[in-house]
Amino acid sequence: MKAYERVIDAARANGSPVVERGSGQAMVRCPAHDDGRPSLSVKAIDGQVLIYCLAGCDTAAVVEAFGFTMADLFDDARGYTYEYPGGRKVHRTPNKEFRQSGNTDDSSLFHSDRLSGNGPVYVVEGEKDVLAIEAAGGQAVTTPCGANAKPERFNWEPLRGRAVRIVVDRDEPGRRRGAMLLEHLSGIALSVSMWEPRIGKDAADHIAAGYDLDDFRCLSEPDVLPFSEMIEQWQEWRDSEQAKPIPTPWWSLNRRIAGGLHPGRLVVVGARTGEGKSVMGANIAVHAAEMGIASLIVSVEMPRVEIASRLLSSQAQVSYERMTTRTLFNEDDVKIAQYVADHINMPLFVCDRPTISIEEVARKARLLKQTSDLGLVFIDYAQLLRASDTRVSRQEQVSHIARSAKLLAMELNIVVILAAQLNREPEKQGKDGKTRAPRMSDLRESGELEQSADVILLLQRDQYLGDVYVSIPKNRTGRTGQVVLQERYDQAALKDSVSAR
Ligand SMILES: [Zn+2]
Repeated sequence: MKAYERVIDAARANGSPVVERGSGQAMVRCPAHDDGRPSLSVKAIDGQVLIYCLAGCDTAAVVEAFGFTMADLFDDARGYTYEYPGGRKVHRTPNKEFRQSGNTDDSSLFHSDRLSGNGPVYVVEGEKDVLAIEAAGGQAVTTPCGANAKPERFNWEPLRGRAVRIVVDRDEPGRRRGAMLLEHLSGIALSVSMWEPRIGKDAADHIAAGYDLDDFRCLSEPDVLPFSEMIEQWQEWRDSEQAKPIPTPWWSLNRRIAGGLHPGRLVVVGARTGEGKSVMGANIAVHAAEMGIASLIVSVEMPRVEIASRLLSSQAQVSYERMTTRTLFNEDDVKIAQYVADHINMPLFVCDRPTISIEEVARKARLLKQTSDLGLVFIDYAQLLRASDTRVSRQEQVSHIARSAKLLAMELNIVVILAAQLNREPEKQGKDGKTRAPRMSDLRESGELEQSADVILLLQRDQYLGDVYVSIPKNRTGRTGQVVLQERYDQAALKDSVSAR
């Protein structure tokens, strides 16, 4: 039996669900901690299985909790023999003892004979890291003896003219080795850049935790890029589903913002109380989830039952008032039952904790990125989040929230929508008796919100006409300007305006 199946079987025997993520990769419940949702990542590589608890349990504890020994993580209980193209053999026991045999004067790199024509070559610290990169679809090499190997003792010719990415271990010897390699390979490779794992200690941990090759964090963005690498990155960008914008429910808005909301970006939705920022954010999140994009709604103000009422009202098109007064008609019940039956498994997640900090939101988002490939988070709203540091001013707290929200969007390559309260100021009426349209400077504690946002949407409602003016004073992905949506707050919804204005 392969070690991967052994772990999956053991998890099933513990009553855990198994969330498959492609072949040889799954999420299961971690037996070493009280794990409500599956947070143990399981990944098969050649000859063994990698496990990684995203809640932080160490591997030895997880192995013990399964009733395993380290040998159970290997297909062959004696371990694995890494064979170098020049005849060196490195035998690894399950307890991480290494023994060399064969041609120990060999200067070849592990798996340099497996390199093919295209794509970057990863240089990692250990043979296990090479196998992990390969299991993730990449090409990699390493020297024997880990961090202590002097680069000049080995034959790097197979890397000549290639784009090389060094992935360093996250410790002092790892970084030192990375710097040595960077220098040594500069004259050989077409380009050299230095990267580190997003999580854990090394490349194997990164892959074990379910991250992809694209997720390594760049430590040395090369400022001179060969055409081949530039085109490759452009193709990755074009091909990746992640890079495609997430459409909002409104075509008129999508047209303005280059097709929708772009991953890696922070969208700030500003409005005064009752002007529709919760409706807009929730409509976007549910619309995304209906398309299969995992979305998280973080609502500080609204308890889950109210969120559900609004959601069912807008999506099943049922009167929100009849919902809240519990006077639904039979036909309403039918519509709701139909909607629920069609969407019961859509990837929508809701957090209604009344006190939550931006750090806690980020933690939940990271976990959901692992377990459900999160694409969007809606936070309702900035000024209601719990302060991460109560000693600083309210303005600094909001600044911190805005910056953290932007970093979260970039880190996970997701859309973060941050609702924000506007100053009361726009309520003041102008000379003509009309309410002044909201401006960017009306964002309360505004400086950093304005700075961090990639897109700002400001809502203003015309109660008499039932219009909602969505002004776009900042937009990195398209034009600024204004669109008009139709208010259907009786169904907790915003609609495209039917009249051509
Ligand atoms: Zn755990």
